[in-house]
Amino acid sequence: MKITRIAAYHVALPLHEGSYKWSGGKSVDVFDSTIVRVETDAGVVGHGEVCPLGPFYLPAYGPGARAGIKELAPHLLGEDPRELLRLNQRMDAALKGHPYVKSGIDIACWDILGQVAGLPVCTLLGGRYGEDFVLYRAISQVAPEAMAENVANYRAEGYRRFQLKVGGDPNVDVERIKAVRDVLEPTDKLIADANTGWLMHEAARVVRGVRDVDVYIEQPCLSYDECLSVRRLTSHPFVMDECIDGMGVLLRGHSDHAMDVVNIKISKFGGLTKAKQARDLCVSLGIAMTIEDSWGGDITTAAISHLAHSTPTENLFTSTDFNSYVTVSTATGAPQRENGRMRASTEPGLGIQPREEVLGPVVVDVS
Ligand code: MG
Repeated sequence: MKITRIAAYHVALPLHEGSYKWSGGKSVDVFDSTIVRVETDAGVVGHGEVCPLGPFYLPAYGPGARAGIKELAPHLLGEDPRELLRLNQRMDAALKGHPYVKSGIDIACWDILGQVAGLPVCTLLGGRYGEDFVLYRAISQVAPEAMAENVANYRAEGYRRFQLKVGGDPNVDVERIKAVRDVLEPTDKLIADANTGWLMHEAARVVRGVRDVDVYIEQPCLSYDECLSVRRLTSHPFVMDECIDGMGVLLRGHSDHAMDVVNIKISKFGGLTKAKQARDLCVSLGIAMTIEDSWGGDITTAAISHLAHSTPTENLFTSTDFNSYVTVSTATGAPQRENGRMRASTEPGLGIQPREEVLGPVVVDVS
């Protein structure tokens, strides 16, 4: 089987809440998503998606994804999409770095592999654990009382895990964490995600200010070393996210006892193939994970669901349903949240079909 065409579409994904705000005054109103279509000489077609969290979160941006796919695609024509390790090595040889550019292509090839095998991607990634899996809700950064009200409303929809966007003024962040914890039950989990927004002295004040509150602390500072220094000051369970982008830092983090949980974002690693490698290593090392991506719509959510549902339940800290945050549905068959939980499709491949009318004109077309 050979790849005969790679195409990409640009889709705008507005938010139900209007905007999403996090540390340092960063916010996004409309997400810039790229949907990738990989065609083969056997007539099987696969789809993937990559959607950065704006141009200022990770080193990734929407038009960059499309420019990168245009650069990479000619090197992949004639390659077998079912041979995913080979395909990833080919991508790495043709384009150094830029993992997010490769992510949508890699996901589309997993979709093809699943369709050819007649199996859901979840099965190919390791098997299905349980009936469904647990989700978190990200709570956009606003005033403490408003965040507590939003958490209460999302709790009423069935969510039991909440990721607060902090990383602002340390005094206000302490208030945010306390206000939200007050509206939760003891069995609910609360994560205060600073998204690299605090300096070390600010993080030190916040963790001391919430010393007696049941809360996880996520990525307080920019670098691994800064986060490690905060980790050593606090007894709170500790999550690393932005600085976890490959196997080397996972091994170092394990050796340093630097974290209890890591966030595996599919596009940060360069696709499902490499995210699976990281996931499997974390399972072996006993590290819990949030399985997700930077952002996305129906196709990203489907890819997340297959990786999350194939992760042992005890290792899956939480996952996410980005398709419920955005107002546009780009595919049928995508998983839908039910009572704060979700399940991967049992159909072959990702189990989705893009809505052609939503995709609009092709913006990259290599054949
Ligand atoms: Mg995070």
